[in-house]
Amino acid sequence: MQLGELARIRGAVLPTPLEEAPRLTRALGGPRVYIKRDDLTGVALGGNKARKLEFLFGDALEKGCDVAITTGGPQSNHCRMTAGFARRIGMDCALVLTGEDSRPRNGNLLLDTLVGADLHFVGEEERAEARMEEVAEGYRKRGRRPYVIPLGGSNPVGMAGYVLAAQEILAQATDMRVRFDRVFCASGSGGTQGGLIIGGMACHGGWTVAGVSVSRPAEYLRALVASVANQGAARLDLPFVLQPEHVVVYDQYVGEGYGKLTEGCREAVRLAARTEGIFLDPVYTGKALAGLIDLVRRGVIGSDEKILFLHSGGSPALFAYADELHDAALPQRTRNGRNGRED
Ligand SMILES: *Cc1c(COP(=O)(O)O)cnc(C)c1O
Repeated sequence: MQLGELARIRGAVLPTPLEEAPRLTRALGGPRVYIKRDDLTGVALGGNKARKLEFLFGDALEKGCDVAITTGGPQSNHCRMTAGFARRIGMDCALVLTGEDSRPRNGNLLLDTLVGADLHFVGEEERAEARMEEVAEGYRKRGRRPYVIPLGGSNPVGMAGYVLAAQEILAQATDMRVRFDRVFCASGSGGTQGGLIIGGMACHGGWTVAGVSVSRPAEYLRALVASVANQGAARLDLPFVLQPEHVVVYDQYVGEGYGKLTEGCREAVRLAARTEGIFLDPVYTGKALAGLIDLVRRGVIGSDEKILFLHSGGSPALFAYADELHDAALPQRTRNGRNGRED
């Protein structure tokens, strides 16, 4: 099937802006940095999942479904956006959240509550898929038609959103007369990076897509990205096969694990806010920028390069990390710095 033939519900505000970040560029002292503002996709406070959900909900409606079911952590942006998108098209949404409920509910979890999502908490991540199936079965028994969306919306249907995004980036780059050497993104469930890689190949973008892992070891994530990329490419009749060893992944910025703040992430969140007035997030984009900062400092990324940083959203989660992000939580040496650099 061709991209234009896929079922799609327009919901995201596209194209998102692609902006130069001159003050961030100066603070990094290396390559020229541009930011793709996919935090501004508009659906339920925005983020990268909107692009995937246009295709996932297109498929859901084509199949006659009336309730979406998906999974993620209690601060999942994907869950918040799925629940919000569902409401926009008159569907219900059930969320299987891996982790604990909290009071008061804050950040994304608060928003899930406001849109009236049907919430189910499960202790272990391994139980999430089985639980989604149980929840789906419950809906079926009541005469409803559930549509189950996997973690992060990263399947061959959802990744098409990022194949299209690559074309959008190339069109904007052409208008601005820039050629990007690398596109930097946070990589979790792999659909964003996989879609960008396949899309970049299809439109001859000429850039390398660098994924900063937010949870998985590099080897695992490379295989995951290649798998979703290849399945998505096959579905779109694109003649590309991606080998895991050709997927660029940096896994040294994860820290203690998914959703666990690192010092580099804190600095990156502050730097983006103080240089460009842009709010990153503590789970994904903060770690991705921390990776970019470190690779520039270590000279891995040359000063002559042009880098596109994908801001994939997530800022609602900042509020759930207030205790760890406010100034008093910072080590003295970075507390008063204009941009948090350790020089
Ligand atoms: C989900 C998410 C990502 C990661 O995208 P994947 O396609 O799951 O790899 C990055 N940034 C934010 C803010 C997200 O919510």
